[in-house]
Amino acid sequence: MTFIDFEGTQLIDSDESFMRMALTEAKRALEEGEVPIGAVVVHKGRVIGKGHNLTQRLNDVTAHAEMQAFTAAANYLGGKYLDECTLYVTIEPCIMCAGAAYWTHIGKIVYGAKDEKRGYSHFHDKILHPKTVIVQGILEEECADLVKSFFRQKR
Ligand SMILES: [Zn+2]
Repeated sequence: MTFIDFEGTQLIDSDESFMRMALTEAKRALEEGEVPIGAVVVHKGRVIGKGHNLTQRLNDVTAHAEMQAFTAAANYLGGKYLDECTLYVTIEPCIMCAGAAYWTHIGKIVYGAKDEKRGYSHFHDKILHPKTVIVQGILEEECADLVKSFFRQKR
C-alpha cells in the first residue's frame, strides 16, 4: 500500500520500509563475510524477530536468515505459530526455509528477489502453508544486487 499525503508527497510504503530493515540485516551479513541475505518478522507493525545468514560463523548450513528470524519471533511471542506475522526476506526462501515457514503457519511472506536456482517456487509452490499470502518484488533490484556483488567479489 502506498499513501499520498495532502501535499502529494509519497509516504513510505510499509512493505518497503520493512524490506529496508531486512536489507540492513543483509548488509550486516555482508560485513561478516556471509552471503548477504536478511530477514525480519513483523507482528502488528512491529519487528519481533530479525536475522541474517550465519552459515559461516555457526558452521551450520541451516543457519539461514529466515530460520534466525523465525526462532527470534517465536521466542518473543512465546508460541511457535506466526500466523499473525509477516516475514520480510531479501531473497526468495529456499525449500528448507519455506518448509520451516509452513510449520510456523506464517501469515504472509514478502520477498525481494527471486532465487532462480534454490528458490522454493522453482521446485514446488505447495511447500508453503495454504493460508500464507505471498508478495514478491519489493526492492527487488537492491536485494538481488547485494547477493550478485558478493559472489562477483568471491570470484
Ligand atoms: Zn533458506
